[in-house]
Amino acid sequence: MTPVTCMKGRNIAVFGLGGSGLVSARALIAGGARVRAWDDGEAARASAVAQGIAVVDLRQTDFAAFDYLVLSPGVPLTHPAPHWAAAKARAAGVAIIGDIGLFCLERMSLAPQAPFVAITGTNGKSTTTALIAHILQSDGRKVAMGGNIGIAVLDLPPPSPALVHVIECSSFQLDLAPFANPGIGILTNIAPDHLDRHGTMKKYAAIKARMIEWSDFAIVGVDDKFSRAIAEEDAMVQISARGPVAKGVYFQDQALWRCVHGAKPEKLASLEGIGSLRGAHNGQNAAAAMAAALQLDVALPVIAAALKTFPGLPHRMEEVARLGKTLFINDSKATNADSAEKALLSFEDIFWIIGGKAKDGGISALAPLFAKVRKAYLIGAASDEFARQLGNVPHEFCGTLDIATKTAARDAAASACFSPVVLLSPACASYDQFANFESRGDRFRDLVRALPQA
Ligand code: ADP
Repeated sequence: MTPVTCMKGRNIAVFGLGGSGLVSARALIAGGARVRAWDDGEAARASAVAQGIAVVDLRQTDFAAFDYLVLSPGVPLTHPAPHWAAAKARAAGVAIIGDIGLFCLERMSLAPQAPFVAITGTNGKSTTTALIAHILQSDGRKVAMGGNIGIAVLDLPPPSPALVHVIECSSFQLDLAPFANPGIGILTNIAPDHLDRHGTMKKYAAIKARMIEWSDFAIVGVDDKFSRAIAEEDAMVQISARGPVAKGVYFQDQALWRCVHGAKPEKLASLEGIGSLRGAHNGQNAAAAMAAALQLDVALPVIAAALKTFPGLPHRMEEVARLGKTLFINDSKATNADSAEKALLSFEDIFWIIGGKAKDGGISALAPLFAKVRKAYLIGAASDEFARQLGNVPHEFCGTLDIATKTAARDAAASACFSPVVLLSPACASYDQFANFESRGDRFRDLVRALPQA
């Protein structure tokens, strides 16, 4: 844990007692702050009480007594409407902050030179974060990885010069960390997302731009117009999955290249055959990780070797098994068409398991890639809608993942395809049949491993 010593003796309200909120409350108490916490849910309050946190009904409390309100990232700050706790704090002139913001303050006061890599972006945050941590560990560095992935940032050890913090930051977390000032700040890309919480694209992009502006060393993607505008202003290193950049690292022909102001590009590392980094989108993530590792003085051969041993993250184009000639891929994290597109782009001869709770527009935007689909297997609530959108693509109504997996495996094995892929990339949320995308992906993995061919 990182005790938040910079808040010693201060009065802090904590609202939102889910995973990271509870950790914040404990870290503040450990640092000597006077914490008063609350959550709208009874169960969350009970678990705070069980951990010795003072739970007080903040609706009945005068906020003038507080120095800060620590808010959980899931709680609306501005949109669609400020939560009552945020509105109360604003009215009383109390600053609002989140766990990443507290970490940044603590680092500034405790060890301002402590290595701190912060990763944000609409897509690719977790992969880039895990890849950077993996490269650094391969180089023998001590790494604390967390934030929006895995462990809450304040549950990691305190910042220190001998430890590299590699922290994934969501836009919600950054909205609560106006002065986040990493040593290395990475922005992968910006696409429309979370507009219900941020209001407009302009506001959403501005939150990410602010972190980049405050970074000592900034690495920014240039493949979308919002990031490109930020890169042109503030990036020390530009990254691209599409080809050469003015100064930076880019992905082309299955390799990473470095380009410095018009000089001849230098090949840095090959991504050929690395299953965990398939696809141009992962080329962008790997380019960002490469730039960060070079900046942290990891030797190029160490980085190139570490790319090859990156295990990847579960549920993101995860190779589950190869049974006979068929490859089974778990891309359960693809909960919208945009993500599923990345998987369709990465494979040929696809036996595609799709469906669940559809997002707006369904899969119609993926029509240009349907020629790669040998057959689709429909599950869950979106089945009828997706069947219509698939048009002439052969498809079968399977209802459940169990039946879809067995049927797709059988069809792939019996097909004339040389190297068929059974791909779970549902382009849907999972909630109609599963608790979350993780349990959907876990189920798929179990089903594949139970196939008679396995
Ligand atoms: P995040 O943490 O930002 O949600 P992940 O690394 O978990 O991102 O990847 C989630 C999904 O997003 C992947 O399965 C893939 O479909 C897509 N994705 C990953 N990296 C990128 C990228 N750089 N650009 C666009 N899409 C990406």
